[in-house]
Amino acid sequence: MRMTPDSIERYARHLVLKEIGGPGQQALLGAKVVLVGAGGLGGPAGLYLAAAGVGQITIIDDDQVEASNLQRQVQFVHTDVGMPKAVVMGDTLRDLNPDIRVTHHITRLTAGNAERLLAGHDVIIDGVDDFATRFAINAAALVLKTPLISGALGRFDGQVMGFASDGSGPCYRCFVPEIPPDAETCAAVGVVGALAGIIGSMMALEVIKLITGAGQPLLGRLYLYDGLSGEGRTVNLPRDSHCPQCGSR
Ligand SMILES: [Zn+2]
Repeated sequence: MRMTPDSIERYARHLVLKEIGGPGQQALLGAKVVLVGAGGLGGPAGLYLAAAGVGQITIIDDDQVEASNLQRQVQFVHTDVGMPKAVVMGDTLRDLNPDIRVTHHITRLTAGNAERLLAGHDVIIDGVDDFATRFAINAAALVLKTPLISGALGRFDGQVMGFASDGSGPCYRCFVPEIPPDAETCAAVGVVGALAGIIGSMMALEVIKLITGAGQPLLGRLYLYDGLSGEGRTVNLPRDSHCPQCGSR
């Protein structure tokens, strides 16, 4: 793929980075990323990936924009309330970067359709807020052997983790084997809006690292951010041989 003068200007700040440069930008332009969830995490992740020139972005979300989303889902404006999130975000990403192809599915990802919807992508982003959907994404990622970047938010705390999905390391269910009985939702406990920007942007950065080969991807590792103290730390996630999804049991 030959870069045009316009794209050389658009991606100039990537092209001068030794970790990305021309080959990395070409890889981004040729990459296919699927975003499950167009909410607090999927919003910033999708915006930064579109801006970065990821050539194909697929958005899967069945929700409509609600007024209570606007406190953190900055990809939407107040006149979007009532519109399907996948449609609004698709239009926003196309406006942001006409170089890329954006497709959307106004549908709920389930165990029944996950493999079909996620197939054909280089990286999967899990930006959902319920464990049943996370488990369905993880199961399909393992079948498809497609790397998965997952994020979570609650109150002032955020998490980012990555899974290679090729059997070389842990999967999401090595980390969360079963749905926690005391699982909290942001609707119940709250979440500070700016945290969605931090964690969603980190997810985009991890995708960019995976596609370009820059740095050390967060595969098999979990980054925990405590927004109240302003401190973060990274821990290794071990593979669990008794994992209900990827274990030998
Ligand atoms: Zn596992």
